[in-house]
Amino acid sequence: MPIDPREPYDPNNIFARILRGEIPCQQVYADDWALAFHDINPQAPVHVLVIPRGAYVSWDDFSARASAEEITGFVRAVGAVARQLGLVAPGYRLLANVGFNGHQEVPHLHVHLFGGQPLGPMLAR
Ligand code: AMP
Repeated sequence: MPIDPREPYDPNNIFARILRGEIPCQQVYADDWALAFHDINPQAPVHVLVIPRGAYVSWDDFSARASAEEITGFVRAVGAVARQLGLVAPGYRLLANVGFNGHQEVPHLHVHLFGGQPLGPMLAR
């Protein structure tokens, strides 16, 4: 069920628990600002989620409240993950779902990183 991004941050959401090490993940990258791990239900040969360490519900929340340092750190981490995975030359897709129409299901900001094959047009037709 999509979340309401106007709700306050839930510290027990599944990605908060992954950040605290309470739930395992298939980690691909970690630094002071971000953690990246394989999506549990991959939609492409490469499907990785990159999340900020800070408590932000969505892209809307993060872009409004995060510090310049957090934003820089997170954006650089997303780029670093894509480079680490060898996705730059073949190309890749970034996606952040927000709220009901975006079909966001986990209420901690996450950027999906897809690659490993031609991904087709942006939306299914
Ligand atoms: P979204 O619809 O943008 O909120 O996407 C949430 C994504 O999180 C989905 O692609 C799920 O497959 C993924 N997901 C949910 N739980 C986990 C988990 N424990 N580890 C990795 N990925 C997960």
